[in-house]
Amino acid sequence: MTKKAVIIGAGVGGLAAAARLAKDGLDVEVYEKLSCCGGRNNLICDRGFKFDTGPSFVLMPDFFAEIFSYCGQEIKDYLDLRILDPSYKIFYADGETLSVYRDSQRTKQELERLEKGASGQFDKFIRETARIYSIIKPLLYKCVTCKDLANPAYWSLVGKIRAFESYWNLAAKFFKSKKLCYAFTFEAMFMGVSPYQAPAFYSMITYTDHVQKIGHPMGGMYQIPLALERLAERFGVKIHYNCAIESIEQKNGRIFLKKGQERFSADYVVANADYPYVQTDLLKRRIPDYKYSCSTYLIYLGIKQKLSNLAHHNLFFSSDLDKNLDQIFKEKTVPLDPSFYVHLPTATDPSLAPAGKDIVYLLIPVPNLKNNSGRLEEEDKLRLRKLVFAKINSVCGCNLEELIEVEHQFYPEDFTGRYNIKYGATFGLAHNLTQSAFFRPPNRDVRINNLYYVGASTQPGGGLPVVIASSRIVADMIKHS
Ligand SMILES: Cc1cc2nc3c(=O)[nH]c(=O)nc-3n(C[C@H](O)[C@H](O)[C@H](O)COP(=O)(O)OP(=O)(O)OC[C@H]3O[C@@H](n4cnc5c(N)ncnc54)[C@H](O)[C@@H]3O)c2cc1C
Repeated sequence: MTKKAVIIGAGVGGLAAAARLAKDGLDVEVYEKLSCCGGRNNLICDRGFKFDTGPSFVLMPDFFAEIFSYCGQEIKDYLDLRILDPSYKIFYADGETLSVYRDSQRTKQELERLEKGASGQFDKFIRETARIYSIIKPLLYKCVTCKDLANPAYWSLVGKIRAFESYWNLAAKFFKSKKLCYAFTFEAMFMGVSPYQAPAFYSMITYTDHVQKIGHPMGGMYQIPLALERLAERFGVKIHYNCAIESIEQKNGRIFLKKGQERFSADYVVANADYPYVQTDLLKRRIPDYKYSCSTYLIYLGIKQKLSNLAHHNLFFSSDLDKNLDQIFKEKTVPLDPSFYVHLPTATDPSLAPAGKDIVYLLIPVPNLKNNSGRLEEEDKLRLRKLVFAKINSVCGCNLEELIEVEHQFYPEDFTGRYNIKYGATFGLAHNLTQSAFFRPPNRDVRINNLYYVGASTQPGGGLPVVIASSRIVADMIKHS
């Protein structure tokens, strides 16, 4: 008889796992609490503007291609991925800018302008991070636990991937100025962790955005979950929307799920909902005192006209970057002068807004809500919004406030309310050393047979390509169970 798998959650991880398991011959059903797929990779449509609400960088495109080829399909039949040029633009508080281009020669000219000798150092940095990435990449398709540390094959890796150095320290070995060190480590913030706390092996993200370049799916980021939903449904997956699972229990060797008055069982259960929430709320377990990523305050604007001087991806750095990081990660206070990110997807993809108009998506990293700290009060929101608008106005020579046609906002507590993300931690469990690789929650439950985990807070970690890799780990585990 065909075995049945139930997936809890239709985020990118859940959909990717569903497609793989169905392709492997299982009878797969997905239960999603919301009325649509995508989880954090979601969409707001309003008056002709299509706002992607979460991820905006497509890195490591080969990880996206892999899920389609696993299912015997070609990515090009599902997603129209374009490479961006420039990849992104950095705005420093003193008015300096740094553009990173598809052509690394142009990037090197930019670097040299900011720091003499930096172009040669860039080549060395890329060589080192390429080396680290070549070691890490195969591990991203494996679940490793503390027991694996007994295997001598892994011991040598610890040194080779610079596990005990920070992302920041690695950059500082190659670049003299803080400006460039930040430019080569800001990606840590997209995992919700400070570059001072993230291990150096996460520099593989910097490597991929410089060498493999950055993609954009035409039609917007929401095309990604839609493509995975289509892939899963092609293999017969049934997706039930507006269906929240309330508990997971094991009885007589089988797993039972509760949904309203209904109780049903499955041969395999894959939880895509955020790992710490599944532990506390669905399994009623106590959890360790985990570290959580930062949260984010998000503002989505539909603008009456086109903005100038911005690229598709823009990073505005704080005048005191160290203080900004301390406020978010140590003091857990609302930042005074935050670094922030501006997504202008209409620079590449006019289909996302009415003709002649732009979408401006603002992401401001703020503390998570653990220990009830860092909560954004009304005056914090107004202050941050005003500050960020002023910086954009000075770059674009506009008055953003007057150009707004549509506005939506998303706060740290919305991550908990909408997606069940603990403490509003946008990127899930933090990616520090003690919660990476061998120490990150594994993809198989330690107590309940046939209960698996896919998604950002489990192995290998957060970010779309890596979450897609976690679905491969789960599919391989189930195949060999
Ligand atoms: C603002 C933001 C910016 C980001 N930027 C980038 C980026 O540029 N590039 C990148 O690669 N990544 C980025 N990320 C990270 C990336 O979006 C996530 O790592 C990824 O989407 C997580 O997918 P997931 O499947 O693990 O979880 P989720 O997206 O959280 O999906 C889990 C699903 O489970 C559902 N669920 C929860 N509880 C239940 C329940 N009880 N019953 C049924 N369903 C339930 C939720 O509704 C949700 O749909 C960003 C994330 C955010 C939020």
